[in-house]
Amino acid sequence: MAIYTDAVCKLCRRERQKLFLKGTKCYTEKCPIDNKNYPPGQHGVSRRSKISEYGVQLREKQKVKRIYGILEKQFRNYFEKANRQKGVTGENLIKLLERRLDSVVYRLGFAPSRKSARQLIRHRHIHVDGHITDIPSYLIAPGQLIKVRDKSKSLDIIHNSLKRVKEGTYPWLTIDKASLSGTFLHIPERADIPLNANEQLIIELYSK
Ligand code: SF4
Repeated sequence: MAIYTDAVCKLCRRERQKLFLKGTKCYTEKCPIDNKNYPPGQHGVSRRSKISEYGVQLREKQKVKRIYGILEKQFRNYFEKANRQKGVTGENLIKLLERRLDSVVYRLGFAPSRKSARQLIRHRHIHVDGHITDIPSYLIAPGQLIKVRDKSKSLDIIHNSLKRVKEGTYPWLTIDKASLSGTFLHIPERADIPLNANEQLIIELYSK
């Protein structure tokens, strides 16, 4: 059987887990992580075994940045914002990332990956509270309605992606597949966010 692999998939192999960066292929048997679970490169396994404490923290940060598709400067800004908020900084950080419009569009099932969600948003296919919103980093607030623009409702990418989610998959979102809309009910609890990451390692790294 042919195994699907490319530069993006190497990022998952490096982290030894699925980061869901490729969209639909991530949910099929073509995902190389399910077949070949070690870091890229001929000597990936031995390199991994020598990783330092700093290296572990750095890898965790890189992993979360890649999952959410965020560059270093913006990610650092999210950390600083999370640090100013009340509560546990690491949890605040993940909750902020989940409030990004691209993340919400992905969770609602309108796009197969966050990267695809960013394209949909930039191409003006998404409304927030009735207004076209073309900024992927726009932070959604509780109560806001996210909807596919009427003219875009026939897009195959949206309908194919919607099969991935069901109403109730994410407790902080309602999903109405008939109208291609969803409401962000409240800021999610960290325990409800399906993210295999130890955000405390990221906080330790930034606190050095
Ligand atoms: Fe590639 Fe997606 Fe599998 Fe990651 S989860 S290795 S991006 S197919």
